[in-house]
Amino acid sequence: MLATKLQSTPVKVCLICGTNILLDHPVMDGRGLCVHASCHEKQMLLNAAAQQIGLWRQSLVTRKSA
Ligand SMILES: [Zn+2]
Repeated sequence: MLATKLQSTPVKVCLICGTNILLDHPVMDGRGLCVHASCHEKQMLLNAAAQQIGLWRQSLVTRKSA
């Protein structure tokens, strides 16, 4: 009989960079997903930047249309 260890040893993978999370310090992001602390920080910075760009573009659009 071949026994697979897939179920007994769940490998946690960072959902941002896709690498094994066990060696690093895993953190939960806002949605309860396991990610690296460093990746989470990067993503938060990216989200903040994207949000600011979105606001900036919105202000351009509203300025043009107004
Ligand atoms: Zn990561």
